[in-house]
Parts: sequence; C-alpha cells; structure tokens
Amino acid sequence: MSVVDTQGRPLRSLRVSVTDRCNLRCHYCMPEDEYLWLQRDDLLSFEEIGRLVDLCGEVGVDRVRLTGGEPLLRRSLPGLVAQLASRPWLRDLALTTNGVRLADAAADLKRAGLARVTVSLDTLRRDRFQRLARVDALPQVLAGIDAVRRVGFAHLKLDAVVTHGDNDDELVDLLEFARSVDAELRYIEYMDVGGATRWRPEAVVSAQEILARLTDRYGAIQPIEEPSSAPATRYRLPDGLTFGIIASTTRPFCRTCDRARLTADGVLLLCLYAQHGTDLRRPLRAGASHETMLNLIRAVWKGRADRGAEERRDMHQRGAYIPLSILKKDAHLEMHTRGG
Ligand code: SF4
Repeated sequence: MSVVDTQGRPLRSLRVSVTDRCNLRCHYCMPEDEYLWLQRDDLLSFEEIGRLVDLCGEVGVDRVRLTGGEPLLRRSLPGLVAQLASRPWLRDLALTTNGVRLADAAADLKRAGLARVTVSLDTLRRDRFQRLARVDALPQVLAGIDAVRRVGFAHLKLDAVVTHGDNDDELVDLLEFARSVDAELRYIEYMDVGGATRWRPEAVVSAQEILARLTDRYGAIQPIEEPSSAPATRYRLPDGLTFGIIASTTRPFCRTCDRARLTADGVLLLCLYAQHGTDLRRPLRAGASHETMLNLIRAVWKGRADRGAEERRDMHQRGAYIPLSILKKDAHLEMHTRGG
C-alpha cells in the first residue's frame, strides 16, 4: 500500500547506490584528493538490496535506478540487474554510469534485463575531460555509448553538468552529439550538494541561460507539456530535436519529488540534501521481520518534509553546503555516496 509524506508526495522512485567508489574525480562531485570510504563489510549484498527494494515496492516504489559512485565498479552488477528485472511490479529499471566501463558491460546488462541507460558526458574534448574528471577516459566513454547503441538499448540519455568557464562553450556540440547517437541530452545545473566543495553561484549555468543560448542558435524553443515527476523539464527545438534541463539549483522541483535514495551500506535518505538517514541494514541483518521493516520504511516516508533544493534556493548567501571538515568525518554526506 502506498504512503504519502507530509507534503502529500508519494514514494515512487528509488535510487540505489551499489558502491561509493568511482573511477573518475569530476570537479563538481569529487574535487578533493582524499575521501573517507564506506566499510566493505557494511555494503549490502545483492540479496539484501533485493529485499530492501521489495519492501520499498510494497510502499509504492515502481522505478529503480542503479547508481554509485560508479555502479559498474561493483562486481557482477548484471547479476543484480537480472534479479531486479524479474520483479513484475517494477515498471522501470535504469542505470546511471560515467560510461568508462560500459563498453565491456553493455551486452551483459542488456541480456540481464536493464531497460534504460544514462551516461554522464560533460565534454567532447579529450584534454578537457582529463582536466575536469582528472582521468584521461573520454575514448572509453564514447566507446561505451557506442556499445549501448549496438546492443540495442532504447532511450539512451546523456547527462551534462554545465559550469561557467569549464564546458559552457559546448552546449551546442553536446546537443548535436546527442542527436548523432540518437540520445536525449539533459543539461544539469551545478548543485551545491555535499561533496561540491568548490561550488559558487557564479559557476552555475542556469536553465534560463542555457535556453537563451540555444534559442540564439536554433530559434524558438518549445517546452514540452507532460505530466511527470521526472527531474528534467523537456524542450523541443524548431527542428524537432528534444532535450531536457535539470534545473535543481534555480528552479527546484521538490514539490513533486517522489524519490528516496539507498546508500550502498543501506542508509535510506529522503533527499539529496538530507544530513541524516535511516539505517535499514542494521535491522535487516539483525533479523527484523518483514512487517517491522515495512512499518519502519512507511513511518520514515510518512514523516518526510524534505525540500532541500527549495530551501537552498531561498537562502540569501549561498556557498558550499557542507564544510569540508564535516564532510571528511561522514562519508554519507558525500554526493558520490548517495547516488547523485
Ligand atoms: S532537493 Fe530533495 S526534495 Fe528537492 S527534488 Fe531533490 S531530492 Fe527531492
């Protein structure tokens, strides 16, 4: 039976982080040199993830997205995909990846039953990629995108976090690349979440600016009216090409947010900005009954009042959200731990 939170929002979507590790160091997510990592013994097994997903399903979840860190660093990920894809009640099973290991994994993921893939792609320039992600891996990412198409995934999405002075001169190039590979591009505003220790307002390229620049290039852009709780607002160019903008910083969409996050060690977070979560691993491993777990998840969602991005937008002075000294003490506050 589904439940709604204090703002009347149902729980529908679960982002499951399968690892906090990542093989890139993107400047907007992991700009530091050292990180505190989750304990290996604390990571949920695939069976435990399956149990928690099932419990969330009983509370209303019907969409699951696998994330990280970088989810393809988790060994045998297609095994988890196959297990989750066998749930008939799951309407949508998707994966967000940085694409570095995707070329090798794409066929197995497809065979396992994964429905959709989103690849992060912030630049098409190899030297820039290396500077922004601190790893020279653009060729692997492009090979991953190619593999996704070859093995027959439909609905490929490309996510680009755009920041002033880094890649805002590639708005058109990224869109044309997406067109060339039959993908839908989503521009993402730079967010001041935990982990974004270099965030400053001047670096944000707003949805308004993105639209203005694309209008200069392509002509009048139409918003697509569609009932959806998806984070992206979608638009159509005069030539019919569609794209999205996730304007979490300047136009937050907390009012319709139906997402919860599960960290790789089993902490349920109700918001990307939440500073505390509910540990589901401990009761699960202690043998709590199905009913007890279900009541716990229900109660947590019922008490949810989070609207982190709206609260941040309404602040007068805005800088990095969590001071570095505090981030260094709690891995759960990092964006790469909570599935971005
Ligand atoms: S900030 Fe929190 S409540 Fe708002 S959309 Fe993001 S996850 Fe949902």
